Amino acid sequence: MKHTLNNFFTITVVVFLTAAVSSFAQNNNCYWQQKVDYKMDIQMDVKNFQYKGKQELKYTNNSPDTLNKVYYHLFFNAFQPGSEMDVRSRTIVDPDSRVGDRISKLSPAEIGYIKPTMLTQDGKPVVYKIVGTVMQVQLNTSILPGQSTVFNLEWDAQVPLQVRRSGRDSSEGVALTMTQWYPKISEYDFEGWHADPYIGREFYSVWGNYDVTITLDAAYTVGGTGYLQNPASVGHGYTVPGQKPMPPVKGKYTWHFLAPDVHDFAWAADPEYIHDTYPGPNGVTLHFLYKNDPKIAENWKNLQPKTAALMEFFNEHVGPYPYEQYSVIQGGDGGMEYAMSTMITGDRTFESLVGVTAHELAHSWFQFVLASNEYKHYWMDEGFTVYIASEAMNAVMESEKTNPHAGSYRSYYFNAASGQEQPLSTHADRHATNRSYGVNAYSKGAVFLTQLGYIIGPENLSKTLKRFYSDFKFTHPTPNDFIRTAEKVTGFELDWYLTDWTKTINTIDYGIKEVDAEGKNTKVTLERIGLMPMPIDLYVTYEDGSQELFYIPLRMMWGEKPNPFTNLNRTVLDNWAWAYPTYSFEISNGKKVKNMMIDATGRMADINPENNFWGKE
Ligand SMILES: [Zn+2]
Repeated sequence: MKHTLNNFFTITVVVFLTAAVSSFAQNNNCYWQQKVDYKMDIQMDVKNFQYKGKQELKYTNNSPDTLNKVYYHLFFNAFQPGSEMDVRSRTIVDPDSRVGDRISKLSPAEIGYIKPTMLTQDGKPVVYKIVGTVMQVQLNTSILPGQSTVFNLEWDAQVPLQVRRSGRDSSEGVALTMTQWYPKISEYDFEGWHADPYIGREFYSVWGNYDVTITLDAAYTVGGTGYLQNPASVGHGYTVPGQKPMPPVKGKYTWHFLAPDVHDFAWAADPEYIHDTYPGPNGVTLHFLYKNDPKIAENWKNLQPKTAALMEFFNEHVGPYPYEQYSVIQGGDGGMEYAMSTMITGDRTFESLVGVTAHELAHSWFQFVLASNEYKHYWMDEGFTVYIASEAMNAVMESEKTNPHAGSYRSYYFNAASGQEQPLSTHADRHATNRSYGVNAYSKGAVFLTQLGYIIGPENLSKTLKRFYSDFKFTHPTPNDFIRTAEKVTGFELDWYLTDWTKTINTIDYGIKEVDAEGKNTKVTLERIGLMPMPIDLYVTYEDGSQELFYIPLRMMWGEKPNPFTNLNRTVLDNWAWAYPTYSFEISNGKKVKNMMIDATGRMADINPENNFWGKE
């Protein structure tokens, strides 16, 4: 019996494995993602800004591939004279003013570094090679599909003088902005390893859990990613009212944080932080850490209810914030998003302070829950964030702009006309100019969504965002995942939109070519001048003051959006096939036409609005 049973199991296992392997081979949509469990212990010397780190990393290979090497990012090594970040900043035509040539001038005591002193895999030393900001590790034992391995890493580090995002002694006097500060394993996905060097921008990391203890001078208040496990031991605004923190040991406190289901861990510390908490929606606690400076205090107090309102807006329009806390921390060099937190500069006008918080908080959805590969698809986090933050600011600050996205369109038009535009599929670091990257990521990315609202209708856009969030949260969604979501919501075919908008620099230019209003009927001829296809909304105003919307579906889209204006009569015309440069139809209701306009809402990014209007104002 036993023997037979064994055979049965063997056969079953073999059949199952064969089925699994062949399904991977035949279907590239079979999603998987790697997993990390970090345990880190950090001893920080706040006087010389050096720290020692110990890291135990349990790495689980959920891929169908056998791995015989892994890569780590050592981001702090970017802040050394002669690094790729330094040289790129000194040779690009429009350097970031925060960086310029500052890295080239850092003294040995001011540079950043991460120097591993010990690395083992499952207890045995492994061979590694460090090249700039990346460390390649040759494994002793390959990691088979579905298996885990444990790396133990010890290192010495120096926190660089604050130049870009992370560092010590920021321009506003924040002692420690600890972002991209620890050895971090690179992501491996369906496209292989993403061990990109740290040249200027953007990140892509592995989902998992962090357990971090940080020991430093007791005067410092710490904030960042993760739930503090020992508030009663450290105080600094984390204790419940009336509770007294324990006395420090040798002048130091050890802070213990746990962060589940994140792909990054950041923290900041300063001896002069004020630490406020404020109730956010759904029981979320909002933390605010900012310098004790009377000049900024009022703005930072008033920011707190606005942050709660912003979170409420994003909860409603994208999906519920999935963590129990969020921290807005003064630090860094502008604004940068991290897991459960942001670092922003604090000395700003109130509008600017709320604006930067809106943007960075929105990244909690578009990057820290929907974790797209920012090296390649930066527009999915920056552009979507700009879009939803502009909508939120309009509501929360009661500015009531008719088109809160007009600025994004202006930037895109300027770039499209400059002759310098590169496709949105260009790697983040491979743009010829910083400006071109900025317009692409932030503006063209935001226009992608606003314009999609024109193509499929605002209600369908809203449904698409919510479904995208619920279907892809805590994964690494791709551009195709997003457009497929829009297709599933609408039933339309939309891949043409993703392709033309993100993989080419094709532009949209439709025009009113000819209007013959002499006879009883009005004959209208439109033309497509740009290469990019679009469905057309044509707004017609008659001499009697009445209005009508003529909708010309795009043939390749295989569908018609619902009438977005319930108070406007709409006539759906025959579809327009993209290859035909012109399209004609007749208005035969007997009414005299006063004027007509293509897309009066300005959401179709037509690079030449001159030819979009005909008639009398
Ligand atoms: Zn951003």
